[in-house]
Amino acid sequence: MSSEAKIIKLLRDHSLALPRGRVYVIEDRCKGCGLCIEFCPKKVLHQSERFNAKGYHPPELIEEPPLKVCIACKFCEMICPDFAIFVEEVSAEEVGGMEEGAECTNGGG
Ligand code: SF4
Ligand code: SF4
Repeated sequence: MSSEAKIIKLLRDHSLALPRGRVYVIEDRCKGCGLCIEFCPKKVLHQSERFNAKGYHPPELIEEPPLKVCIACKFCEMICPDFAIFVEEVSAEEVGGMEEGAECTNGGG
C-alpha cells in the first residue's frame, strides 16, 4: 500500500475532521495575477479558461478528494491584491463529506 493510500485509510478509519473551505471568486475583480494559484499550499486553484469583464482568466477550484482539497487556510484571500477571492471555513459535512469537493462559487461583479 502506498503512503498516500495509508494516509487516506487512516483519515477514513478515524473520521478525522479536517478543516475544509468553500471558495468564492468575484470574477470581475480578478486581474489574473496568479498569486492565489501560486501560493495555495494545496495546489487546488487553477487558472480557468473563462474570461472576465477585464479580459483576464480568474482562478477556479479543482479538488481531488480526500487529500487534495481546500483546507481553508485563507492564504489566497490574504494575498489577493484585489479582494477578488475569499474563503468560508465549513465542516466536512457541509461540503458533503470527505469524498466530495468544496464549491467554487463565482460571485460576479
Ligand atoms: S484557502 Fe488555502 S487551500 Fe483553500 S484555496 Fe485558498 S490558499 Fe488554497
Ligand atoms: S490573486 Fe486575486 S487578482 Fe490575482 S489571480 Fe487570484 S483572484 Fe485574481
